[in-house]
Amino acid sequence: MSLKVLKFGGSSIGDAEAFRRAAAIVQGELPAGGLVVVSALRGTTDGILEACTAAGLGDLVSAQAVLEALRSRHQEVAKELGYLQEIRTEWDLLFGRLDQVLTGMAMLGEATPRGRDGALAIGETLSAHLAARCFGGEFHEVRDVMKTDSRFGKARPQLGAIRHAAAPWRAALATGRLWVTQGFLGSTPDGVTTTLGRGGSDTTATLLGEALDADEVQIWTDVDGVLTADPSLVQEARPIPQMSLSEAEALSAFGAKVL
Ligand code: ADP
Ligand code: ASP
Ligand code: MG
Repeated sequence: MSLKVLKFGGSSIGDAEAFRRAAAIVQGELPAGGLVVVSALRGTTDGILEACTAAGLGDLVSAQAVLEALRSRHQEVAKELGYLQEIRTEWDLLFGRLDQVLTGMAMLGEATPRGRDGALAIGETLSAHLAARCFGGEFHEVRDVMKTDSRFGKARPQLGAIRHAAAPWRAALATGRLWVTQGFLGSTPDGVTTTLGRGGSDTTATLLGEALDADEVQIWTDVDGVLTADPSLVQEARPIPQMSLSEAEALSAFGAKVL
């Protein structure tokens, strides 16, 4: 059976309407199951980082104000999609954990890279739980599979360990299930949460595609492919129809946001 991995970034699940569009794509592309990787809702990662910075400076009030803004925005999206009642308890636990992490940072007066990764993971997990409901799939924890070293904030995936850990996923997905998981996150051999660096959920989808022997990985975003330049900076940017591996490598070395 062929397997496809689809990835939706924050720009594709920024609000309820975007979620519905993504759900329609999932339905069209994965009628017989597959894997969907989602990132946090647009702006969430920036928000959590801002809250960590405030907490690290001892300003718990500002940190908690950001948390509450994130909570109400998430709840608004879930409400509009009709899932607020069923997701509320799960989300309250996650927001409660975020509050604890921020409180700890404020008490210590320090936001360590490890603490920040723990906080960022909550943003990715919130959206993956909602996406699972909205897409009619089952949530599975990416940190069970995405094994990394312990370079917090920019952890390096351990390909052999990932392939090994992905064996049960390969078996389950071969039976036609639809699974939804988080992007951007990993875990050290001791099970501590890491992140792969900003924009890392594209990497997650690609590595999972490889580890699961997928036939195709689709990265859905808000532009029509890789353009000649960032369209938010260069108006005349146009799509590049085809690209060689070495061109892609060069772009990636220069930090291309979309590849
Ligand atoms: P997502 O949330 O789907 O991961 P990102 O915001 O990370 O989306 O990436 C998509 C954005 O990347 C586009 O909206 C565009 O502004 C920007 N971008 C930068 N460089 C390029 C490029 N060469 N081609 C296409 N998009 C680019
Ligand atoms: N949510 C993370 C970020 O904003 C990962 C990603 O979007 O790929 O960097
Ligand atoms: Mg991105």
